[in-house]
Amino acid sequence: MNPSEPDCVYCGSTDDPTRDHVPPRAVFPKPRPTNLVTVPACRACNSSAAADDEYFAAVLRLAARAPVPDPAPPLPLGFGRALGPGVDLPRVHRVVARVVRGLYFRETGRRFPRTEPLDVHCNASLVGCPPGLLAHLRAEILGPLLTWPAKRVGDRVFEYRSWHSPDRPFGSAWQLTFFAAVPFVVLTGPGGDSQQAD
Ligand SMILES: [Zn+2]
Repeated sequence: MNPSEPDCVYCGSTDDPTRDHVPPRAVFPKPRPTNLVTVPACRACNSSAAADDEYFAAVLRLAARAPVPDPAPPLPLGFGRALGPGVDLPRVHRVVARVVRGLYFRETGRRFPRTEPLDVHCNASLVGCPPGLLAHLRAEILGPLLTWPAKRVGDRVFEYRSWHSPDRPFGSAWQLTFFAAVPFVVLTGPGGDSQQAD
């Protein structure tokens, strides 16, 4: 990549370049950590996400602070917390997808194509998932990912781990946790979900 002419990591445009924070800056309480991650983004993509970012930060902060029921209900991912029934999950997942697109660029130096699948999962969205798929997700994807050291931004604010397929183009698996409480799993690339169902 030519740093003097950065392509937007979301849409590929070279118009009106800015830097976008991944995760959104709104997630980090002040004083903000010095190692916030930024990626090249055009102004249109950067500013179109602002309202979602505020919503995302507020919802996750609330979920992390909510009292845990006793006894705690079983969770599809096996840990963390589930976002409540009133939460706009597609909106939250849209932000997580953008975070992964940004981090994908950071980890690989390549833009993740808009045409490739990118699937976001969380405790709330996985309720009702077939037990076999869930067992596979936990044993074959989440379990191995969680044994690796996490990359962290901010004190108990955000951490992530990623695995990149050596042979499947754009194939990767991600585990992200916000506020040391709310986990997400993201799978990317062609055949991701269907392959896991085998
Ligand atoms: Zn853009």
